[in-house]
Amino acid sequence: MASASVLSVTQQLAAIDISKGQPTATSTRPVRAKQPTQSNVSKLLSKYAAPNPSKANLSTSSLRQPVTTTASDTQTHRTPTPGKGATQTGIDIGRYDGGFEIDNEKRGEKVYGEAAEDLALDSSVSRTRPTREWNLASFDIGRPLGKGKFGRVYMVRTKSEPKYILAVKCLYKSEIVQSKVEKQTRREIEIQQNLRHPNVLRLYGYFHDEKRIFLMLEFAGKGELYKQLSKHGCFSEKRSSRYIDQMADALSYLHSKHVIHRDIKPENLLLGINGELKIGDFGWSVHAPGNRRMTLCGTLDYLPPEMVEGREHSEKVDYWALGVLTYEFLIGNPPFEDRNSVNATYRRIARVDLKIPSHVSPEARDLISKLLKYDPEQRISLAEVARHPWIVKYRPKQSSSGGSGAQ
Ligand code: AMP
Repeated sequence: MASASVLSVTQQLAAIDISKGQPTATSTRPVRAKQPTQSNVSKLLSKYAAPNPSKANLSTSSLRQPVTTTASDTQTHRTPTPGKGATQTGIDIGRYDGGFEIDNEKRGEKVYGEAAEDLALDSSVSRTRPTREWNLASFDIGRPLGKGKFGRVYMVRTKSEPKYILAVKCLYKSEIVQSKVEKQTRREIEIQQNLRHPNVLRLYGYFHDEKRIFLMLEFAGKGELYKQLSKHGCFSEKRSSRYIDQMADALSYLHSKHVIHRDIKPENLLLGINGELKIGDFGWSVHAPGNRRMTLCGTLDYLPPEMVEGREHSEKVDYWALGVLTYEFLIGNPPFEDRNSVNATYRRIARVDLKIPSHVSPEARDLISKLLKYDPEQRISLAEVARHPWIVKYRPKQSSSGGSGAQ
């Protein structure tokens, strides 16, 4: 996919209000959607547009090209139709493999009772806001982007003008209930829907039917950060510094909204079309205004001493995780990893048994050791991270924080 074309899509997204289009195909199935207000979306999309749009890109945008493939709103199994996208001069959303319908035939059951209510996602808040109806038939579906625990993710384009490129993620309600994460899922959706930051993956809206929930997500054009890390082994100091700059900015935004992420790790980070980092998973995040939490959660290698030791914790768990992330970017594995046993890792974390290889620069070393402090109160603040010499040194000009791509 030509990045210029995708950049133009991002620009279109920036320029247009997603909730403005006319409602498209109606479905007989119970489908609801909740949308942020029009003015908010257009304002925020404009604010967080991809930097440096080229006028040529905007004017030659192919968003209004004819559709390639379609999804059936009757949800009957259909043979995948090859997309014409590849032969078009415009945005290629790729070939749909029929995965939503294939899955829907053999996967998931209807959910009843309290769980169904939890996952209906039509809280009273939506009644006070302008909404618009979306369903699967509102989109041309393109290539698969990945599979998660509860369902598949596809690249899609809205059928109605203006045509947006998005990622649609499907979650099977019965599987969410089986895993006993209906409350967590609902919380994840509610949290993500209210967040607007260039380094936090946007959730534009959602809709559901009896078996599934569909999330309309910002399309992260460069995919998973974890794949990049696995491919390269580790990142350069410049690239790591820029990612950490963006992370610090995103985390301070989240903390200002009383959201503690609690599960920062490369697997939860995506990359936007300009290579900018996007926090993309809110499964463990918690909305905790003034609250200190005692639940043990998150990924072992990124857990701070206070969580390993079962003490109360605050947003400073994310500062620790930022230190672990910095280390992993530069070295290629997390600092307290012990392949012998989980307990050995716990012990290394609790002792802050930190060994930084000699190839790491003194500035990076300084930042890592200031974030990885046993006492949460001693950890360097996010504002100080943004001013740290190792961050400032690599920050692109004309950027107060590392809002642009890291490559
Ligand atoms: P998840 O269920 O969130 O783990 O998603 C499964 C996979 O789909 C991820 O590992 C990504 O490769 C891909 N994916 C998820 N969301 C997006 C998105 N918004 N943009 C691009 N790819 C995505």
